[in-house]
Amino acid sequence: MNFVVLGASAAGLTAAKVLRENAPDSEVTVVSSDEHVYSRVMMHEFLSKERDLNGINFVTPTFFTDHQIHWLGGKTAVKLDTAAKKVFCADGTEVPYDRLLLATGAKYCIPPITGLRDAGRVFGFRDYADAVQLDVLAHAGRRCAVIGAGLVGMDVAYALSKRGVEVTVIEMADRIMALQLDHRAAAAYQSRFEAAGCRFVLSAQVQRAETGENGLIRSLVLADGREIDCDFAVVCAGVRPNTSFLAGSGVDCERGVAVDTQMRTSCPDVFAAGDVTGLSGVWLNAMQQGTVAAKNMCGMQAVYAEPLSLRNTMNFYGLMTLSFGAGRLENYLAGEGYVREDAGKNVYQKIYVKDGRVVFVILQGDVKSNAVWQYLLANGTDLKRLLADTGKDLFSLTMADVKKL
Ligand SMILES: Cc1cc2nc3c(=O)[nH]c(=O)nc-3n(C[C@H](O)[C@H](O)[C@H](O)COP(=O)(O)OP(=O)(O)OC[C@H]3O[C@@H](n4cnc5c(N)ncnc54)[C@H](O)[C@@H]3O)c2cc1C
Repeated sequence: MNFVVLGASAAGLTAAKVLRENAPDSEVTVVSSDEHVYSRVMMHEFLSKERDLNGINFVTPTFFTDHQIHWLGGKTAVKLDTAAKKVFCADGTEVPYDRLLLATGAKYCIPPITGLRDAGRVFGFRDYADAVQLDVLAHAGRRCAVIGAGLVGMDVAYALSKRGVEVTVIEMADRIMALQLDHRAAAAYQSRFEAAGCRFVLSAQVQRAETGENGLIRSLVLADGREIDCDFAVVCAGVRPNTSFLAGSGVDCERGVAVDTQMRTSCPDVFAAGDVTGLSGVWLNAMQQGTVAAKNMCGMQAVYAEPLSLRNTMNFYGLMTLSFGAGRLENYLAGEGYVREDAGKNVYQKIYVKDGRVVFVILQGDVKSNAVWQYLLANGTDLKRLLADTGKDLFSLTMADVKKL
């Protein structure tokens, strides 16, 4: 069997390894635009100069030889012919396959804000090439506007401020990392970023970009008329699955490549996993999807169950937070919740509850009880009954207690 995997990141390389393990006599070829293997999750540490390119590699240097995987790096698929079972690359390379995995991830998008798409020195932060471009501009004293205070925006803000760049983060929500954190947890990070020199403009909408005579961005004008001067800008306001090369291939796309629970696409012998499916946008889930896809490509029976909650980990300035929940945090902010705080130790834990059951959890500064809360969330445990049965208070529950019910 000739297996081909498009993409050399979380989904693609996990799948390639699983293919090799389960089909030792098959050919496994990975094709990727990326010329290096690196973790996007760690890329900000390359930009901050805390790690070099090797330091953000997430496989061993001998990964491809150890697993007898043929890697064609620096090759971008531009067309897929599912009838001929061939991938066509921009440089003319044709790659035939028996079974194909699409693991091409996502790319950043620049919103249709007046002048922003045409302005020079406006970047995204998704690929190593983006980090290299920013690295060149990251001189102390330069001014950078970061649009979006989600996880990617905060990675960029962290790295650039570490380099001495004067960073202003502009965010539509009223707090940073709003999908993951409530106001209290977000404020703990914001004050740390501010101490490092970052400025924040929250509840703000960018209306247009102004450029100088050279066509380079010089400021962002907000809906309320305020103007944020900058020498360059980084847009961290969403991604889109990398599917353009699938036009005319017969592979159905919705949010991303449409897949069933076995990660099969609408075309026979074509599977998809990771951010290209639009299912999650989380590294760990991309790996899990890659594993399920690869097993099914080998003829095994594996099923991907969409997780009830997407778990996010944040770690800036030594403050670690885990957050997870069923659905959007915004829906629970005004509802019932229980708090444990220890300001001296920078601990803030908030358990959001609806109808007597855990619905969202934020663990900041102390994440040890994480398994307990994940269990209660996943099982929809009746908290009142659990506390009555165990005679304990909410924050002293252990795994032994929660499994009793
Ligand atoms: C800055 C940043 C920070 C992040 N932080 C976190 C975090 O803290 N926690 C978390 O869980 N997730 C985080 N994520 C998201 C996480 O990185 C992704 O969920 C994960 O990388 C998805 O893996 P993937 O394999 O699906 O795709 P990607 O990592 O996007 O990789 C896609 C691969 O496909 C290749 N490719 C693309 N198009 C083509 C083509 N046409 N032909 C050939 N090859 C192609 C690329 O070169 C690449 O190798 C972050 C992402 C970014 C950008």
